[in-house]
Amino acid sequence: MKISGHSLVGFNQSKSAGESFGASNPRTGEPLGPSFFSSGPDDIEAAARLADKAFALYGCVSGRERGKLLRTIADRIDAAMDALVERAELESALPKPRLISETARTSGQLRLFAGVVEEGSWVMARIDRADADRKPAPKPDLRSMLCPLGPVAIFGASNFPLAFSVAGGDTASALAAGNPVVVKAHPAHPGTSELVGQLVQESVRECGLPEGVFSLLFDSGNKVGIALVKHPLVKAIGFTGSRNGGRALMDVAAARPDPIPVFAEMSSTNPVFILPGALREKPDAIASGLHASFTIGAGQFCTKPGMVFLPEGVSDDSFTAGLQKLVQESKRFNLLTAGIRSAYESNIARRKREKGVKLSAERPSSGDGTEISVNPALFETDVQSFLQNPELGAEVFGPATLLVRHSSRAELLKVAANLEGHLTATIHGTEDDLRQFGDLLAILKTKVGRLVFNSFPTGVEVSHAMVHGGPYPATSDGRSTSVGSQAIFRFCRPVCYQGFPQAALPNELKNENLLQIWRMVDGQLTKERVS
Ligand code: NAP
Repeated sequence: MKISGHSLVGFNQSKSAGESFGASNPRTGEPLGPSFFSSGPDDIEAAARLADKAFALYGCVSGRERGKLLRTIADRIDAAMDALVERAELESALPKPRLISETARTSGQLRLFAGVVEEGSWVMARIDRADADRKPAPKPDLRSMLCPLGPVAIFGASNFPLAFSVAGGDTASALAAGNPVVVKAHPAHPGTSELVGQLVQESVRECGLPEGVFSLLFDSGNKVGIALVKHPLVKAIGFTGSRNGGRALMDVAAARPDPIPVFAEMSSTNPVFILPGALREKPDAIASGLHASFTIGAGQFCTKPGMVFLPEGVSDDSFTAGLQKLVQESKRFNLLTAGIRSAYESNIARRKREKGVKLSAERPSSGDGTEISVNPALFETDVQSFLQNPELGAEVFGPATLLVRHSSRAELLKVAANLEGHLTATIHGTEDDLRQFGDLLAILKTKVGRLVFNSFPTGVEVSHAMVHGGPYPATSDGRSTSVGSQAIFRFCRPVCYQGFPQAALPNELKNENLLQIWRMVDGQLTKERVS
């Protein structure tokens, strides 16, 4: 496989007139060839027009055909694993084993969506039969199902160069629902993006689908992304990344003459609550689990536990001493980009100056100032200081976390009630703790998309029941998830047919249940044909 540095628009490569930029190796700071070219207005226009044209056909093909496309992409990704991992490792500094498992996750989630659309019941077909004799007015025949939206523009994050990028969960779910996709490649991993883009493009061609089903655009800055969000033929946005980026795209989409939905999956600090019984019973196990969770992937996970609430006293010394030791003896980490490293370093420096915050432990530096890697850090504060300073609840992207001590149950509930929306909340407790802190659980349920018990939030399973979302600002729309098969519901809308003859209805809604899908007929779930 060869990286050209050019945008992939439909089945073509185009070297646009835009400015050039390149990737660099975060371990060494060295530039990585080749040069990439920002897509120009012509590329954006062509990608949007081709996607719109493709939608006329791709929006109507069967679930089996969409499944075939998703499986073809997955097979090609598996076959290209070595080349993808090699380039992604150079561009991201993420360790090879992690990238191997991320590649498997990427192809696995494509196959998960293939299974969903091949089975077909996801369209939630509903049929309310007509009743001509109903009084005072006859009841019409009503049939509804979920239908795709149209071209979707997708933005991936830097920390998952495969699973949340060009052929990641957003692309897989948008394609599964029947939407053509235009991806704006992340500038931190343009080479990996292009390699994956070529595989998707080849898969579209192999499946005999229109070229506009998939395009990939590049940009060194924000112009291309903004132009895509503003483009009248683009009907929805899938975004994974920072809160600032997601919020900027939400505002642009809302300001369009025809606002479109933005599914922005943004940052989260993922509160962890250690309850007294658990802290007494297993301080060492919680300390080592917490350390592993906030340093895995160099702390560059949206599910990283970034704030930990615990009671004063109660085996606290053993827990804190254990955690401090682990941090002091921890290795140093390479972060994804120079920008992320400098943001981490300035966040750590600022946190050291915050009122009421103490640096609890930090891995010592070599002191020569030449290292390109960063130290993990552990901070401590109390509930009063935490509540007075909203900065302390914000995401620090990198291997750091904050312990927040509370002195009473009232303080604990107050701090929970003040939390903003997050992706996850974790409780470490005994069964007795859970009985005593039912009110805490009730509050946390209103704040997050996933509640974790006696485990840690990193390591997001891709499955049917997973929810990777949460109230704003964790996501733009807390009714959705970006991971797991329910992610498909973001990129479709219900359409109802009233009084149509059988021949004009989609197969999913005809009397004869040819696809053998689950349907709700007069309020009852069934696979039976409609009489
Ligand atoms: P990012 O800087 O927001 O970038 C994401 C994408 O959005 C990039 O393509 C970026 O392009 C574009 N973008 C950012 N700001 C923009 C703007 N104002 N206008 C137009 N486009 C814009 O995010 P990142 O640093 O790559 O990723 C790290 C963040 O992602 C962390 O906060 C992490 O928690 C979050 N994340 C969330 C999830 C989740 O599922 N919730 C998963 C993974 C990561 P440019 O770089 O060219 O601006």
